Formats: sequence, C-alpha cells, structure tokens
Amino acid sequence: MQKGGRKRGCAEGEGNPMGTRGRESRARPAGVSGAWRGGVTLTLGMTIFAKILSGQIPCHKVYEDAHVLAFLDINPLSPGHTLVIPKEAKATVGELSDDSAAAIGRVLPRLCRAIGRAVGATDYNILQNNGAGAHQVVMHVHFHIIPKMADGRGLGIRWEAGKLGAEEAAGLVKAIGAGW
Ligand code: AMP
Repeated sequence: MQKGGRKRGCAEGEGNPMGTRGRESRARPAGVSGAWRGGVTLTLGMTIFAKILSGQIPCHKVYEDAHVLAFLDINPLSPGHTLVIPKEAKATVGELSDDSAAAIGRVLPRLCRAIGRAVGATDYNILQNNGAGAHQVVMHVHFHIIPKMADGRGLGIRWEAGKLGAEEAAGLVKAIGAGW
C-alpha cells in the first residue's frame, strides 16, 4: 500500500466508474508512453486502460504479472466477463511486441479455466476487437473472456458466412505469405 492508503495500479474489490477523471501520477507506469514533465504523467490522450495501469482509476483486478493485467469488465455480458490487457500501450494486436504477445498467450488459458470455474461455465468466448470499424472502443489492446452461461447470457454472434473459392484461397495464401 502506498502512502495515503492507496495502492498503485488496479486494486481488487474497488468500484470502477467508466469516465472517472484521471489525476496526475508521479511514477511513469510500465508501458505508458505519454508526455512526461518532471516526474508527472500528463493524462491527456491516455486511454482509460492506461489510466487503470497507472493507478489513476481503480478496477476489479483478477490477475497481474510483469506484462499483463486482467480485470472485470464494468459492463459485463455475463458474470466473470474479464478483460486481459498488455501493459504495453498499443492499440491493436498487430502492434504488440513478441514479449507482450507471449505473456498474454501464456495466461489466457489459465484465466479461462479460473473464470469458468468461478462462475460455473464450461463454455466461453474470447473476443478481441481491433479498430473502430471492428467495434473497438478502447484503443488499448484487450482480450474479452466472456463466459457463456446456461441461460444464454454471454456473447451473441451474428456470423454471415460466405463461401471460399479455390482461386481466392490460393491468392490469399500467397498474399499472406508475402506479408509475413
Ligand atoms: P471494446 O469494444 O472491445 O473496445 O470493449 C471495451 C470494453 O471495455 C467494454 O466492454 C467496456 O465495458 C470496458 N470498459 C471500459 N471502461 C472500463 C473500465 N474503466 N473498467 C472496466 N472495463 C471497462
């Protein structure tokens, strides 16, 4: 616990109002690359998740390590709906470092198991949005773990599938291989 009784970073069991105004933090948080003046982080332009990482706003923390933080979503689709974020401040998965990506990959299965046990769900979705056009609202990488409850609560999906033709598939495989 820090001086003044406030724990840095996200704390278990605290309320987490979206849109809470940030305040200045004296220590630059890991992965936060905002403007820096005399040991004070300027909060302008920080995402709400960067503010959670820096301890400027609280969250309901379920897991933390050197690279990753996981906390409950404040607008859950089902009980246990959790967000898993890298401490690295990047908007999309494609921008992440290998270290961040590996750290998230390592903890996702463990968190899925623990959350499932906690809420009594065996089924769940992992949702990960990249870009406003793909429904991303908070521009800091996050993975949603969303338990699917027996009563139907959880992620609803509209899946309008097409058909993949052989020619199109061959072209795509070639283009993806070239962009690797
Ligand atoms: P996305 O549409 O993938 O960007 O989802 C962003 C998610 O962040 C939403 O499900 C929000 O409910 C959640 N969220 C926003 N602010 C907070 C917060 N302060 N604490 C916890 N979850 C949040």
